[in-house]
Amino acid sequence: MGEIISIINQKGGCGKTTTAVNLSAALSLLERKVLVVDMDPQGNATTGFGVNKSELDSTIYTVLSRKASLTDVILPAELEDLYLAPSNISLSGAEIELSSEIGYHAILKEALGDVRDEFDYIFIDAPPSLGILTLNALVASDSVIIPIQAEYYALEGMADLLRTMNLVEERLQSPCPIKGILITLYDSRTRLARDVQREVERFFGERENIFRTRIPRNVRLAEAPSHGKPCITYDPESTGTGAYMKLAAEILDME
Ligand code: ADP
Ligand code: MG
Repeated sequence: MGEIISIINQKGGCGKTTTAVNLSAALSLLERKVLVVDMDPQGNATTGFGVNKSELDSTIYTVLSRKASLTDVILPAELEDLYLAPSNISLSGAEIELSSEIGYHAILKEALGDVRDEFDYIFIDAPPSLGILTLNALVASDSVIIPIQAEYYALEGMADLLRTMNLVEERLQSPCPIKGILITLYDSRTRLARDVQREVERFFGERENIFRTRIPRNVRLAEAPSHGKPCITYDPESTGTGAYMKLAAEILDME
């Protein structure tokens, strides 16, 4: 049965989508079958895989509105064994519409139940908020990866995220442990990056797994989406590609 992992942090720009796209591509190169579910109305993961968001008839929004099953909206992405459940701006309506549905927090979980056996890994690219879409991602997931940008205020909002995860566990009986904290946009030359790393280590300490692999700031990672490709196919030799391959290996070690 596939492992469902949300990539979550309500802070924008910390590398969630970059991680969803490149980690999934790396795992598919390592012969795992992987699905990425784009749960962000901005549809950046969708674009990142070269899919034109504006031309989609059905998206993850169609699934959440119960007008299609997940199987109907899944598209093949860039690499063999890599698939995408796309999203676009239509998903922004879901926050309000779904809140009146009974069991609204578990709609994604139900939908994933139909396809989970077909994949080894399912990554959910969460939006930059702690609303209903993120709640659906948390309830659907077996665990979460939290990317943290090695910048000032890296841990700002972390208490809110952890509180939300606790509430989901207590009120919805849906525990969602941390698979790992991922330090992103890391520049080993700067003192700031090293300070942030120490701060993250102090905050999560012995309690949680902090991935050994850190994702460096790498311009190829930033360029790849405009070519509609994961960095792994856009520039296989880049340090960004190397980092996500290492992270994928670290995740396989946890199997
Ligand atoms: P989020 O999904 O958390 O909002 P993104 O993955 O979209 O964050 O990243 C925000 C911006 O930073 C994007 O323009 C992306 O291309 C860029 N970016 C992300 N990770 C890296 C990295 N390791 N090196 C360079 N640029 C990066
Ligand atoms: Mg994103």
